[in-house]
Amino acid sequence: GRVLLEVRNLVKYFPVRGGIFRHVVAWVKAVDDVSFTIHEGETLGLVGESGCGKTTVGQAILRLTEPTRGQVIFDGQDLLKLKGEALKRARRNLQIVFQDPYGSLDPRLPIEESIAEGLHIHGIGTPAERFEIVLEMLRKVGMEDYHAMRYPHEFSGGQRQRIGIARALVLRPKFLVLDEPVSALDVSIQAQVLNLLRDLQREFGLTYLFIAHNLGVVEHISDRVAVMYLGKIVEVAPRDVLFGNPMHPYTQALMSAIPIPDPTVKRQRIILKGDVPSPLNPPAGCRFHPRCPMAMGICARQEPELREVAPGHFVHCWLYQPHEAEPVTAQTD
Ligand code: SF4
Repeated sequence: GRVLLEVRNLVKYFPVRGGIFRHVVAWVKAVDDVSFTIHEGETLGLVGESGCGKTTVGQAILRLTEPTRGQVIFDGQDLLKLKGEALKRARRNLQIVFQDPYGSLDPRLPIEESIAEGLHIHGIGTPAERFEIVLEMLRKVGMEDYHAMRYPHEFSGGQRQRIGIARALVLRPKFLVLDEPVSALDVSIQAQVLNLLRDLQREFGLTYLFIAHNLGVVEHISDRVAVMYLGKIVEVAPRDVLFGNPMHPYTQALMSAIPIPDPTVKRQRIILKGDVPSPLNPPAGCRFHPRCPMAMGICARQEPELREVAPGHFVHCWLYQPHEAEPVTAQTD
Protein backbone atom coordinates (compact mmCIF):
# COMPACT_ATOMS: atom_id res chain seq x y z
CA GLY A 1 0.00 0.00 0.00
CA ARG A 2 0.92 3.64 -0.23
CA VAL A 3 2.46 5.48 2.70
CA LEU A 4 -0.35 6.76 4.95
CA LEU A 5 1.71 8.20 7.79
CA GLU A 6 5.24 9.48 7.79
CA VAL A 7 6.95 10.68 10.94
CA ARG A 8 10.07 12.69 10.16
CA ASN A 9 12.74 13.63 12.69
CA LEU A 10 10.25 13.87 15.52
CA VAL A 11 11.63 15.46 18.68
CA LYS A 12 9.85 16.01 21.98
CA TYR A 13 11.71 17.55 24.90
CA PHE A 14 9.87 18.24 28.14
CA PRO A 15 11.18 21.15 30.19
CA VAL A 16 12.19 20.56 33.79
CA ARG A 17 11.69 23.75 35.82
CA GLY A 18 13.35 24.75 39.04
CA GLY A 19 14.30 27.64 41.31
CA ILE A 20 11.96 30.34 42.54
CA PHE A 21 11.47 31.63 39.00
CA ARG A 22 10.46 28.20 37.72
CA HIS A 23 12.90 28.59 34.87
CA VAL A 24 13.95 25.71 32.66
CA VAL A 25 16.88 23.92 34.26
CA ALA A 26 17.00 20.84 32.04
CA TRP A 27 15.22 18.98 29.27
CA VAL A 28 13.86 15.46 29.30
CA LYS A 29 14.69 14.13 25.85
CA ALA A 30 11.64 11.86 25.61
CA VAL A 31 11.70 11.48 21.82
CA ASP A 32 14.91 12.39 20.05
CA ASP A 33 14.90 12.33 16.26
CA VAL A 34 12.49 9.53 15.46
CA SER A 35 11.49 8.76 11.85
CA PHE A 36 9.33 6.00 10.40
CA THR A 37 6.58 5.37 7.88
CA ILE A 38 3.39 3.31 8.05
CA HIS A 39 1.70 2.02 4.91
CA GLU A 40 -2.03 1.91 4.41
CA GLY A 41 -3.59 -1.18 6.00
CA GLU A 42 -0.38 -2.02 7.85
CA THR A 43 0.34 -2.48 11.55
CA LEU A 44 3.59 -1.11 12.86
CA GLY A 45 4.44 -2.43 16.33
CA LEU A 46 6.36 0.08 18.49
CA VAL A 47 8.06 -1.61 21.40
CA GLY A 48 10.20 -0.53 24.33
CA GLU A 49 10.36 -0.35 28.11
CA SER A 50 8.48 2.36 30.00
CA GLY A 51 10.18 5.73 29.62
CA CYS A 52 11.53 4.95 26.14
CA GLY A 53 9.24 7.54 24.54
CA LYS A 54 6.85 5.24 22.68
CA THR A 55 3.71 6.70 24.25
CA THR A 56 4.97 10.22 23.58
CA VAL A 57 5.39 9.31 19.89
CA GLY A 58 1.75 8.17 19.72
CA GLN A 59 0.53 11.29 21.50
CA ALA A 60 2.64 13.60 19.34
CA ILE A 61 1.15 12.10 16.15
CA LEU A 62 -2.32 12.96 17.44
CA ARG A 63 -1.07 16.26 18.87
CA LEU A 64 -2.23 15.31 22.33
CA THR A 65 1.22 16.64 23.14
CA GLU A 66 2.88 19.27 20.93
CA PRO A 67 6.14 18.04 19.42
CA THR A 68 9.23 20.20 19.85
CA ARG A 69 10.27 19.66 16.22
CA GLY A 70 9.67 17.39 13.29
CA GLN A 71 6.95 16.55 10.82
CA VAL A 72 3.96 14.22 10.93
CA ILE A 73 2.73 13.77 7.37
CA PHE A 74 -0.65 12.09 7.23
CA ASP A 75 -2.27 11.50 3.86
CA GLY A 76 0.04 14.11 2.34
CA GLN A 77 -0.65 16.81 4.97
CA ASP A 78 1.72 17.95 7.71
CA LEU A 79 -0.50 17.66 10.78
CA LEU A 80 1.82 19.86 12.82
CA LYS A 81 1.10 22.81 10.53
CA LEU A 82 -2.69 22.55 10.77
CA LYS A 83 -4.81 24.79 12.96
CA GLY A 84 -8.45 25.30 13.90
CA GLU A 85 -11.02 23.76 11.58
CA ALA A 86 -8.43 22.10 9.31
CA LEU A 87 -6.88 20.35 12.31
CA LYS A 88 -10.28 19.29 13.60
CA ARG A 89 -11.17 17.81 10.18
CA ALA A 90 -7.85 15.97 9.89
CA ARG A 91 -8.21 14.61 13.42
CA ARG A 92 -11.34 12.69 12.51
CA ASN A 93 -9.06 10.26 10.72
CA LEU A 94 -6.71 9.63 13.64
CA GLN A 95 -7.97 8.15 16.88
CA ILE A 96 -6.43 6.51 19.94
CA VAL A 97 -7.25 3.55 22.16
CA PHE A 98 -5.66 3.77 25.60
CA GLN A 99 -4.41 1.04 27.90
CA ASP A 100 -6.97 2.03 30.48
CA PRO A 101 -10.35 2.69 28.86
CA TYR A 102 -11.40 4.40 32.10
CA GLY A 103 -9.32 7.27 30.82
CA SER A 104 -11.69 7.85 27.90
CA LEU A 105 -14.96 6.63 29.41
CA ASP A 106 -16.63 9.05 31.79
CA PRO A 107 -17.74 6.93 34.80
CA ARG A 108 -20.80 9.17 35.29
CA LEU A 109 -22.15 8.65 31.77
CA PRO A 110 -23.82 5.66 30.16
CA ILE A 111 -21.43 4.32 27.55
CA GLU A 112 -23.65 5.39 24.65
CA GLU A 113 -22.76 8.98 25.48
CA SER A 114 -19.02 8.31 25.56
CA ILE A 115 -19.17 6.41 22.28
CA ALA A 116 -21.23 9.15 20.63
CA GLU A 117 -18.99 11.99 21.79
CA GLY A 118 -17.07 12.26 18.49
CA LEU A 119 -20.36 12.45 16.58
CA HIS A 120 -21.45 15.38 18.74
CA ILE A 121 -18.15 17.19 18.36
CA HIS A 122 -18.30 16.92 14.58
CA GLY A 123 -22.05 17.58 14.39
CA ILE A 124 -22.81 14.29 12.67
CA GLY A 125 -26.40 12.99 12.38
CA THR A 126 -29.67 13.53 14.18
CA PRO A 127 -30.00 12.05 17.67
CA ALA A 128 -31.80 9.03 16.18
CA GLU A 129 -29.05 8.52 13.58
CA ARG A 130 -26.36 8.89 16.21
CA PHE A 131 -28.05 6.25 18.35
CA GLU A 132 -28.11 3.88 15.36
CA ILE A 133 -24.39 4.47 14.76
CA VAL A 134 -23.64 3.77 18.43
CA LEU A 135 -25.56 0.49 18.31
CA GLU A 136 -23.81 -0.49 15.09
CA MET A 137 -20.39 0.18 16.63
CA LEU A 138 -21.32 -1.82 19.74
CA ARG A 139 -22.26 -4.79 17.57
CA LYS A 140 -19.02 -4.44 15.58
CA VAL A 141 -17.00 -4.87 18.76
CA GLY A 142 -19.04 -7.85 19.92
CA MET A 143 -21.33 -6.12 22.43
CA GLU A 144 -25.13 -6.08 22.68
CA ASP A 145 -27.63 -3.28 22.09
CA TYR A 146 -28.81 -3.31 25.71
CA HIS A 147 -25.27 -2.44 26.85
CA ALA A 148 -25.67 1.07 25.45
CA MET A 149 -27.37 2.50 28.52
CA ARG A 150 -25.11 0.88 31.08
CA TYR A 151 -22.22 2.54 32.92
CA PRO A 152 -18.49 1.75 32.62
CA HIS A 153 -18.29 0.10 36.07
CA GLU A 154 -20.85 -2.50 34.99
CA PHE A 155 -18.40 -4.04 32.50
CA SER A 156 -15.34 -6.26 32.74
CA GLY A 157 -11.93 -4.97 31.68
CA GLY A 158 -12.14 -6.72 28.32
CA GLN A 159 -15.62 -5.31 27.66
CA ARG A 160 -14.48 -1.82 28.61
CA GLN A 161 -11.65 -2.12 26.11
CA ARG A 162 -14.18 -3.15 23.44
CA ILE A 163 -16.17 -0.04 24.31
CA GLY A 164 -13.01 2.06 24.05
CA ILE A 165 -12.46 0.63 20.57
CA ALA A 166 -16.08 1.36 19.55
CA ARG A 167 -15.56 4.93 20.74
CA ALA A 168 -12.37 5.28 18.68
CA LEU A 169 -14.06 3.88 15.56
CA VAL A 170 -17.29 5.88 15.66
CA LEU A 171 -15.95 8.55 13.28
CA ARG A 172 -14.67 5.89 10.86
CA PRO A 173 -11.02 6.94 11.15
CA LYS A 174 -8.29 5.63 8.84
CA PHE A 175 -5.63 5.32 11.51
CA LEU A 176 -5.54 4.19 15.14
CA VAL A 177 -2.86 4.57 17.76
CA LEU A 178 -3.29 1.53 20.01
CA ASP A 179 -1.41 2.45 23.18
CA GLU A 180 -0.90 -0.80 25.11
CA PRO A 181 -4.53 -1.77 24.45
CA VAL A 182 -4.24 -5.23 26.00
CA SER A 183 -1.53 -4.73 28.63
CA ALA A 184 -4.02 -4.38 31.50
CA LEU A 185 -6.05 -7.45 30.50
CA ASP A 186 -5.78 -11.12 31.52
CA VAL A 187 -3.81 -13.19 29.03
CA SER A 188 -6.95 -15.14 28.00
CA ILE A 189 -8.77 -11.88 27.21
CA GLN A 190 -5.76 -10.36 25.42
CA ALA A 191 -6.05 -12.81 22.52
CA GLN A 192 -9.76 -12.01 22.06
CA VAL A 193 -9.14 -8.28 21.90
CA LEU A 194 -6.18 -8.74 19.53
CA ASN A 195 -8.34 -10.88 17.23
CA LEU A 196 -11.08 -8.26 17.33
CA LEU A 197 -8.56 -5.56 16.39
CA ARG A 198 -7.37 -7.68 13.47
CA ASP A 199 -10.92 -8.31 12.23
CA LEU A 200 -11.80 -4.61 12.48
CA GLN A 201 -8.61 -3.71 10.64
CA ARG A 202 -9.66 -5.89 7.71
CA GLU A 203 -13.27 -4.76 7.72
CA PHE A 204 -12.54 -1.03 7.89
CA GLY A 205 -9.19 -0.97 6.09
CA LEU A 206 -7.52 0.47 9.20
CA THR A 207 -3.86 1.29 9.70
CA TYR A 208 -2.40 0.76 13.20
CA LEU A 209 0.47 2.00 15.30
CA PHE A 210 0.49 -0.66 18.02
CA ILE A 211 2.47 0.39 21.11
CA ALA A 212 3.58 -2.22 23.64
CA HIS A 213 6.32 -2.80 26.20
CA ASN A 214 6.57 -6.45 25.30
CA LEU A 215 7.69 -7.95 22.00
CA GLY A 216 5.51 -11.02 22.52
CA VAL A 217 2.30 -8.96 22.37
CA VAL A 218 3.10 -7.33 19.01
CA GLU A 219 4.40 -10.47 17.33
CA HIS A 220 1.11 -11.71 15.89
CA ILE A 221 -0.51 -8.42 15.04
CA SER A 222 2.40 -6.47 13.48
CA ASP A 223 3.57 -6.41 9.87
CA ARG A 224 6.70 -4.54 10.88
CA VAL A 225 8.20 -3.80 14.28
CA ALA A 226 10.20 -0.81 15.55
CA VAL A 227 12.14 -1.06 18.81
CA MET A 228 12.75 2.08 20.89
CA TYR A 229 15.31 2.73 23.60
CA LEU A 230 15.64 6.03 25.48
CA GLY A 231 13.98 8.22 22.87
CA LYS A 232 15.56 6.59 19.79
CA ILE A 233 14.50 3.89 17.38
CA VAL A 234 17.25 1.27 17.55
CA GLU A 235 15.91 -1.30 15.09
CA VAL A 236 13.09 -1.57 12.53
CA ALA A 237 12.31 -4.61 10.40
CA PRO A 238 9.51 -6.69 8.93
CA ARG A 239 8.06 -8.83 11.72
CA ASP A 240 9.51 -12.18 10.61
CA VAL A 241 12.92 -10.66 9.97
CA LEU A 242 13.02 -9.01 13.38
CA PHE A 243 11.92 -12.14 15.22
CA GLY A 244 14.11 -14.44 13.10
CA ASN A 245 17.23 -12.30 13.12
CA PRO A 246 17.25 -9.56 15.76
CA MET A 247 20.48 -7.60 15.23
CA HIS A 248 20.54 -4.82 17.81
CA PRO A 249 21.86 -6.04 21.19
CA TYR A 250 18.86 -4.42 22.93
CA THR A 251 16.37 -6.20 20.66
CA GLN A 252 18.23 -9.44 21.31
CA ALA A 253 17.86 -8.89 25.06
CA LEU A 254 14.12 -8.13 24.75
CA MET A 255 13.68 -11.19 22.57
CA SER A 256 15.45 -13.43 25.07
CA ALA A 257 12.88 -12.43 27.70
CA ILE A 258 9.86 -13.73 25.74
CA PRO A 259 8.76 -17.01 27.32
CA ILE A 260 8.81 -19.97 24.93
CA PRO A 261 5.74 -22.19 25.21
CA ASP A 262 7.73 -25.31 24.23
CA PRO A 263 9.67 -26.40 27.36
CA THR A 264 12.15 -28.50 25.33
CA VAL A 265 13.46 -25.40 23.59
CA LYS A 266 16.06 -23.58 25.63
CA ARG A 267 16.89 -19.95 25.11
CA GLN A 268 19.70 -18.12 26.81
CA ARG A 269 18.16 -15.21 28.68
CA ILE A 270 20.26 -12.07 28.25
CA ILE A 271 20.20 -10.12 31.50
CA LEU A 272 21.08 -6.45 31.04
CA LYS A 273 23.08 -4.68 33.70
CA GLY A 274 21.46 -1.76 35.45
CA ASP A 275 18.17 0.00 34.81
CA VAL A 276 17.11 2.17 31.90
CA PRO A 277 18.90 5.49 32.52
CA SER A 278 16.80 8.65 32.81
CA PRO A 279 16.02 10.46 29.54
CA LEU A 280 17.21 13.50 31.48
CA ASN A 281 20.86 13.62 30.42
CA PRO A 282 20.88 10.37 28.45
CA PRO A 283 24.29 8.71 27.97
CA ALA A 284 26.48 10.13 25.18
CA GLY A 285 27.25 8.15 22.05
CA CYS A 286 25.00 5.12 21.76
CA ARG A 287 22.48 5.57 24.57
CA PHE A 288 22.50 1.85 25.23
CA HIS A 289 26.26 1.63 25.80
CA PRO A 290 26.28 1.52 29.64
CA ARG A 291 24.13 -1.63 29.50
CA CYS A 292 25.27 -3.20 26.25
CA PRO A 293 27.10 -6.56 26.45
CA MET A 294 28.78 -5.79 23.08
CA ALA A 295 29.85 -2.18 23.74
CA MET A 296 33.10 -0.98 22.15
CA GLY A 297 35.14 2.16 22.72
CA ILE A 298 33.46 4.16 19.98
CA CYS A 299 29.99 3.45 21.41
CA ALA A 300 30.52 5.83 24.33
CA ARG A 301 31.83 8.61 22.13
CA GLN A 302 29.78 8.71 18.98
CA GLU A 303 26.22 7.94 18.06
CA PRO A 304 25.71 5.37 15.29
CA GLU A 305 23.20 6.03 12.52
CA LEU A 306 20.02 4.11 11.83
CA ARG A 307 21.41 2.22 8.86
CA GLU A 308 19.66 -0.11 6.42
CA VAL A 309 21.58 -3.37 6.67
CA ALA A 310 19.20 -5.45 4.51
CA PRO A 311 16.11 -4.39 2.57
CA GLY A 312 13.73 -2.85 5.11
CA HIS A 313 15.94 -3.82 8.07
CA PHE A 314 17.41 -0.81 9.89
CA VAL A 315 19.78 -1.02 12.85
CA HIS A 316 21.19 1.78 14.99
CA CYS A 317 24.44 0.13 16.15
CA TRP A 318 28.18 0.37 15.49
CA LEU A 319 28.43 -3.40 15.09
CA TYR A 320 26.89 -3.04 11.65
CA GLN A 321 28.60 0.03 10.31
CA PRO A 322 32.18 0.84 9.52
CA HIS A 323 34.13 2.64 12.22
CA GLU A 324 37.74 3.32 13.06
CA ALA A 325 39.61 0.45 14.62
CA GLU A 326 39.81 0.67 18.38
CA PRO A 327 43.05 2.26 19.56
CA VAL A 328 45.26 -0.39 21.13
CA THR A 329 45.71 0.35 24.81
CA ALA A 330 49.33 -0.07 25.84
CA GLN A 331 49.89 -2.56 28.62
CA THR A 332 51.96 -0.75 31.21
CA ASP A 333 52.69 -3.48 33.72
FE1 SF4 B 1 26.03 -1.85 21.87
FE2 SF4 B 1 27.75 -0.22 20.69
FE3 SF4 B 1 25.77 -1.28 19.30
FE4 SF4 B 1 25.29 0.58 21.14
S1 SF4 B 1 26.45 0.85 19.26
S2 SF4 B 1 24.15 -1.28 20.83
S3 SF4 B 1 26.79 0.06 22.70
S4 SF4 B 1 27.48 -2.37 20.24
